[in-house]
Amino acid sequence: YPTRDLQARDAAHHIHPFTDTGALNREGPRIITSADGAWLTDSDGKRYLDGMAGLWCCQVGHGRQEIADAVHRQMCELEYYNTFFKTSHPPAVALAEKLAELTPPQFNRVFFTSSGSEANDTVFRMVRAYWDKMGQPEKKTIIGRWNGYHGSTLAGTSLGGMKGMHEQGDLPVPGVHHIAQPYWFGEGGDMSEEEFGLWAARELERAIDEIGEDKVAAFIAEPIQGAGGVIIPPQSYWPEVSRICKERGILLVVDEVICGFGRLGTWFGSDYYGLEPDLMPIAKGLSSGYLPIGGVMVSDRVASVFIDQAGDFHHGFTYSGHPACCAAALANLEIMQREKLVERVADDIGPYLQAKWTGLADHPLVGEARMVGLVGALELVPAKGDRSRAFEPAGDVGTLCRDLSFDNGLVMRAVRDSMIISPPLVLTHEEADLLVERTAKTLDDTYAVLKR
Ligand code: PLP
Repeated sequence: YPTRDLQARDAAHHIHPFTDTGALNREGPRIITSADGAWLTDSDGKRYLDGMAGLWCCQVGHGRQEIADAVHRQMCELEYYNTFFKTSHPPAVALAEKLAELTPPQFNRVFFTSSGSEANDTVFRMVRAYWDKMGQPEKKTIIGRWNGYHGSTLAGTSLGGMKGMHEQGDLPVPGVHHIAQPYWFGEGGDMSEEEFGLWAARELERAIDEIGEDKVAAFIAEPIQGAGGVIIPPQSYWPEVSRICKERGILLVVDEVICGFGRLGTWFGSDYYGLEPDLMPIAKGLSSGYLPIGGVMVSDRVASVFIDQAGDFHHGFTYSGHPACCAAALANLEIMQREKLVERVADDIGPYLQAKWTGLADHPLVGEARMVGLVGALELVPAKGDRSRAFEPAGDVGTLCRDLSFDNGLVMRAVRDSMIISPPLVLTHEEADLLVERTAKTLDDTYAVLKR
């Protein structure tokens, strides 16, 4: 591949998501040309271990012929039709049924979208429509968390708590409120993890009291915050949040876009934490990213109101339940079940990688090494053993470490100064060894630059 030529044409015509366009144009993007299993190859033939499964999505690994074949067959049979106005088609029916089987028992229906962001837009509108239909239209406010991520559309950005994203567009939209995240390492102060988890959960109760119970519609959160930095809540957090939602009668929306489909060693993050959400946005691992598809799992409690009361839900996307995307998702789920990938994360490759990953906590740059299932983070710190100190300005060391990891043939992601991994669920033991070896080398390289 002519790398320079592709980079120049990219610079001339392409604006990339979440990227400093000027900086990218000076450096030129890495051009990925093929992928197989847990491996990526660039236009110069260099191979990288894909420690991020694309963007936390490629559960079954890259290059599965079986999924390509299923999509091809579907394209030949019915390449596209919609699901509006009392119409359906076999792949949408089969996928909806499969999702009802795999998700927790209160979920028997799905609303299809093309992405996680659209799923959260759907949540936003469905939550308000639900309370409207329940005769409580004043219940409008949705509570999210600072540093949560729920996508890039206006509703997704608003529900999320990324301040940089809010500042860019005068967001959030009205009717969204944010509370603290359960980020003990960074924000726990002198509290124990247990105490901090309870404190962070009770922020929800304080917000409900402040806004008024009769005005709060729902609480939305990821089981483990992904894009916020793989923030694993203290054990005390979720039981308390669940109690508050139940007692105060607000809908619980658990965003499973990252944690769903085996990432935590259970089918869903809600299974891992024993949660009973009312709505569950899903995407990413649903098709392992082979084609864009997402959805919202709708509990019987919410669905029954839409069923019992006449009138449309005035919402939908041209590609809701796209046949080829449904076929990709079905083939992906078939592989996950046949190869027992969720069980593999729980009992085999998960514990194997966790043991090695947490060993990286001995490195002088690492303040904490954490992992659940196959999603983990390393907190890089200037003073080991002192959680109160962080690098300044935030993010430079993380970016350096991420760039060095690319040099070392490993794709990691940096969130501020945390290094993140979320590899494919098919990662082999040898690849797990290599992932940790390359991470250790990258930490050494980063430390050497800082000491210079
Ligand atoms: N929700 C969560 C938890 C996510 O991590 C993401 C994407 O990273 C989204 C929603 C948005 O999904 P998408 O990028 O498919 O729109």
